[in-house]
Amino acid sequence: MSEEREMATGRCFVCKREFTYDPREVITFLIDPQTGIPPGFSVLGTMRPAGPEAVARSTDEPLCPDCQGRAEQYRDAMNAPPPRWESWPPAGN
Ligand SMILES: [Zn+2]
Repeated sequence: MSEEREMATGRCFVCKREFTYDPREVITFLIDPQTGIPPGFSVLGTMRPAGPEAVARSTDEPLCPDCQGRAEQYRDAMNAPPPRWESWPPAGN
């Protein structure tokens, strides 16, 4: 069956749900405790410069699988492949 694993319990920084995770596999985000979001993000979800003091006070917070799935959907939407311009400019011949 499954091998013994050292599991940890933490609180998802997005939905605040407690969940058990494998520390070696869990996704963590650097979270600024003053804002509850990663340094470099504004509360509106836009990018802003991450101040060194914001990074210094930030800690790694675990992300639960549910929110991880949503984050990946969001990331995919944000990182949609750029339009391809293979036919532009038009070839000379
Ligand atoms: Zn969550």
